[in-house]
Amino acid sequence: MKVIDIIRQAEAAGETRFAFELLPPLKGENINSIFDTIDALVPFDPAYINITYHREDVKYVEREGGLLERRVVRKRPGTVAISAAIMARYGIETVPHLVCGGSSKFDLEDMLIEMEFLGIENVLALRGDCLKGENLFRPHPEGYAYAVDLIRHIGAMNRGEYVDCEIDNCMPTHFCVGVAGYPEKHAQAPNRATDIAYLKQKIEAGAEYVVTQMFFDNAKYFEYVADCRAAGITVPIIPGLKPFSTKRQLSLLPQTFHVDLPQALVEAVEACRTNEEVRQVGIRWAVQQAKELREAKVPVLHFYTMGRSDTIVQIAQEVF
Ligand code: FAD
Repeated sequence: MKVIDIIRQAEAAGETRFAFELLPPLKGENINSIFDTIDALVPFDPAYINITYHREDVKYVEREGGLLERRVVRKRPGTVAISAAIMARYGIETVPHLVCGGSSKFDLEDMLIEMEFLGIENVLALRGDCLKGENLFRPHPEGYAYAVDLIRHIGAMNRGEYVDCEIDNCMPTHFCVGVAGYPEKHAQAPNRATDIAYLKQKIEAGAEYVVTQMFFDNAKYFEYVADCRAAGITVPIIPGLKPFSTKRQLSLLPQTFHVDLPQALVEAVEACRTNEEVRQVGIRWAVQQAKELREAKVPVLHFYTMGRSDTIVQIAQEVF
């Protein structure tokens, strides 16, 4: 089933559904860690499960004489396979993420063909981030510079038009495409208005819904939705929530995700003596956010799990 249909059904019923995002295991780890997380969250009837995509990363290995060897590796492969394995095991829809970074348009097309063959109907189309050590995104020489280019590619495949085809009449694919949105603006966007204009471009290219970057102040989400509506974006905008869990995140989250932390949250976290206390603060904060968003009748709440099912279980028990 397409995610947009799940969202529309929830909207029609006036419900808020639960959804979450998982990371593939680190290379060498067992897929059972994923299944254990899902087992803990299945009682909350997830509408769908997103699986992140991890492009290649740069790793430095120390050699004799202090020399450093630069290696390019993928630490978390398996996004498409995990998505299919979850669908087969649980009968829950999955949304594999697909990023432009590190792949040619031919590689991307091949991954989409695999998804189609596996019965996956949903994909979150993203540009991806820069490689470690780089401060600007460099597209693959035969790839795409922006998510909108990937969305156009998927739209063409849905019409049976491939960039590389061995036969005359290619099978049309059937993807429902979601995209990322940034209530506090994408780090590289010159301002919020241009960022929203580019979001609109992604919708006009065929994306059917938006999932937001994490935010810790609901006012930022409501303002973003209002600005998107004013700009003519009418598709559902699904809020993404991440429970705060360690003191280190006070600097890590703003640095990595370019989000602002409300003063009340910062003070509550600073007053904690242990990370377990921080986790409890994070749970209370996320529950409060989720309840307010539910009252505002958002059709789905998307949780960033970061592998912590225990935290999400505690939140879901209070909200769903
Ligand atoms: P785009 O929409 O292409 O935007 C990138 C920047 O370019 C923005 O500043 C935008 O304003 C600007 N822009 C867009 N279009 C144009 C244009 N035509 N001309 C000029 N400027 C333009 N990363 C991963 O690697 N793997 C994941 O699984 C993953 N999952 C994510 C899930 C969610 C819900 C979110 C919010 C982010 C996720 N990311 C993931 C991070 C994402 O890849 C980065 O934030 C990336 O830097 C931007 O991706 P995008 O798809 O939003 O890019």
